[in-house]
Amino acid sequence: MPETVMDKLVSLAKRRGFVFQSSEIYGGLGSVWDYGPLGVELKKNIKERWWRSMVHEREDIEGLDAAILMHPRVWEASGHIAGFTDPLVDCKQCKNRFRADDPRIKGTPGQPDAQCPVCGTKGSLTVARQFNLMFKTFMGPLEEAAAVVYLRPETAQGIYVNYLNVLQSSRQKIPFGIAQIGKAFRNEITPGNFIFRTREFEQMEMQFFVKPGTEVEWFEFWRGERMKWLQGLGIRPEKLRWHQHGQDELAHYAKDAYDIEYEFPFGWQEFEGVHNRTDFDLSNHQRASGKKLEYLDPATNERFLPYVVETSAGADRTALVVLCDAYREEEVEGEKRVVLQFKPSLAPLKAAVFPLVNKDGMPELARRIYDGLRGEFNVFYDDGGSIGRRYRRQDEAGTPFGITVDGQSTQDQTVTVRDRDTLKQERVGAGQLAAYLKAKLAG
Ligand SMILES: [Zn+2]
Repeated sequence: MPETVMDKLVSLAKRRGFVFQSSEIYGGLGSVWDYGPLGVELKKNIKERWWRSMVHEREDIEGLDAAILMHPRVWEASGHIAGFTDPLVDCKQCKNRFRADDPRIKGTPGQPDAQCPVCGTKGSLTVARQFNLMFKTFMGPLEEAAAVVYLRPETAQGIYVNYLNVLQSSRQKIPFGIAQIGKAFRNEITPGNFIFRTREFEQMEMQFFVKPGTEVEWFEFWRGERMKWLQGLGIRPEKLRWHQHGQDELAHYAKDAYDIEYEFPFGWQEFEGVHNRTDFDLSNHQRASGKKLEYLDPATNERFLPYVVETSAGADRTALVVLCDAYREEEVEGEKRVVLQFKPSLAPLKAAVFPLVNKDGMPELARRIYDGLRGEFNVFYDDGGSIGRRYRRQDEAGTPFGITVDGQSTQDQTVTVRDRDTLKQERVGAGQLAAYLKAKLAG
C-alpha cells in the first residue's frame, strides 16, 4: 500500500519527537499518545494562545482548574450515566465489538442477514446494547459499588458545579464565562486516526452564562469569535467549515450545535464545537443537589437560572489540525524537502543556531548567541553534519529561523538568518537578533 499523508505525518511526528505511542516498548496502549519534546511545546503554545484570548484578553471570563475526579452524583445529574452511551454489537464468532452504526456492517445486527465486517460470518452479530463511555475507577480502599468514581468525560461539569463559587468570588455579573483547559477521558470503542480520537484527551472549554432569551445572540457571537481565533492560528480558511447538527446528531444536553470542521487527510472532521446547552446542566444540578443556583440580577431584581453557550475545543485535535495544515513536501534546488510551515508564534522551536564549521572561533560565538537567546526564546543549538542537513532537520521540526555563524561573523558580529518558508537569508547584527525574532514572532 502506498504511504498516505497520515502515515508520513505519524512517522515524522515520531522521528522528530512530536508524538509517541503510549507505552510503546510494551506494544503500545490503544489510542493513547504521548507528546515528545517538540509536541509538548506545540500543544502548550496552542493552549497558551487560547488562554490568552479567552481569559486574559476578556474582562468577562474567569479561569478555572477543576479536578478530574468529581462526586459521582455529578454524572447522574448531568445525564452522562444514563445517556453517554454508544450502541454496540458483538460478533459471537470472532468476539470483535463494533459500533452499531459501523458502516462496514451489512444488514441488521441481531438478524440472520447481518454480516460481521471482520470474520464475514452471517448471523453472528448480537442486537445492539448500550455501552457507557465513561472510565470507572474506585475511590478509597474498597473496590465496591459505593466507591465508584469516574474519570470525567468532559471538563464542562467542573465549571457548572463551581459556577456560583466563581461568580461570587470574582464579583462578575451575568453575562460572564468560565474557561478551563484540562484532561478528559472517553472509553471510545472505535478510536483512531492518530491523535484525532483518543481515549485520554485535553479539552479547552468555555461556558458562557447568559440571561435566558439572549442565548441565540451570544451563540452567534461566540461562533464568530472562535472562527476568528482559528484563522489566527494560520490555518488555511478553505480547510475550515461549519457543520450544524441535525436533530438526530445533537448531544443529550444541546439545543443547537455547530461543529467547526477541518479537512484532514482522512476527510472533513469536527475538532471544535459551539453549543447552546440552555439551562440543562444548571437546572439538573439544582434539582439533584438541592442547592439554589439561580442568579439574582442586581439591576432588575429578577431571579433566573442562566442559559449556557459553550465553546468546546479539543487541544489534541487542534494540534493535529495545526500539524496537518503545516505539512508540506517541496522540491528545493532539485532536492525534496519536508517542512512544517507553522505560524512562527506556534512553532515549538523559534530558531536554531549553527556554527558554519567547528573552528575559527565560530562555535564559541554561536554558543554565546544561543545562550543569549535562550532566556527569551525556545532555541536549539546544532553543530552536527553539513549546514544543508542541519537546515533540513529544522525544516522538519518547523523551526522558522536558522541563524548561522560564518567566517564573516567573527569579523563583524553579524550572522545570517534563513527564513524557513522563503529560504531567503539576510544578515543581522548578533546584538539585534532578539529584537529581530520578537518582531517576526508577533501575531
Ligand atoms: Zn466476526
